[in-house]
Amino acid sequence: MSLEEGSPILQIMVDLLVKPHYNSNTLTHTGAEKMKAFRPKCINHGCIGLVVPMEGRITDPNPRWRVHCGHCQAASYGKWPHRPGVTPFKTGRCSNIDRRLGFACLINWKLAGAEGRTVKTDVDHKNGNPNDNRPRNLQELCGDCHYEKGRRSGDFNNQRHAA
Ligand SMILES: [Zn+2]
Ligand SMILES: [Zn+2]
Repeated sequence: MSLEEGSPILQIMVDLLVKPHYNSNTLTHTGAEKMKAFRPKCINHGCIGLVVPMEGRITDPNPRWRVHCGHCQAASYGKWPHRPGVTPFKTGRCSNIDRRLGFACLINWKLAGAEGRTVKTDVDHKNGNPNDNRPRNLQELCGDCHYEKGRRSGDFNNQRHAA
């Protein structure tokens, strides 16, 4: 596979390079201007908050961001309710139930539902860019599918390099 015109991969790259999609509303410490990193928007529907770092500080050049703002992060583990008008992005379901990744989700969702079990899910950035929180770049995956997706994309890269 090469990056032909019109390929989805190329389109993503073009989007990333050309379109201003980062929320540049970052903290503006005087004197820290040059240091400030892109700070993506919280992924929850209806939330206008900006994400908080998982590691590092807001003023670091390249902190590792969470996908949620501080309020939603705490709400996700029940510290307080979500703000009015905000619905969580995560629903506790794996998007790969429809085999969109080309392999089957291993979780028995019927059984999990019947037993009232909740399944821990991750938010996956489809294009691999953790700062790209545009809705179309996000999907919710169970841990197994997230791992398998990463493993397979590694394999695909190796194949490409070997070819
Ligand atoms: Zn939020
Ligand atoms: Zn899954």
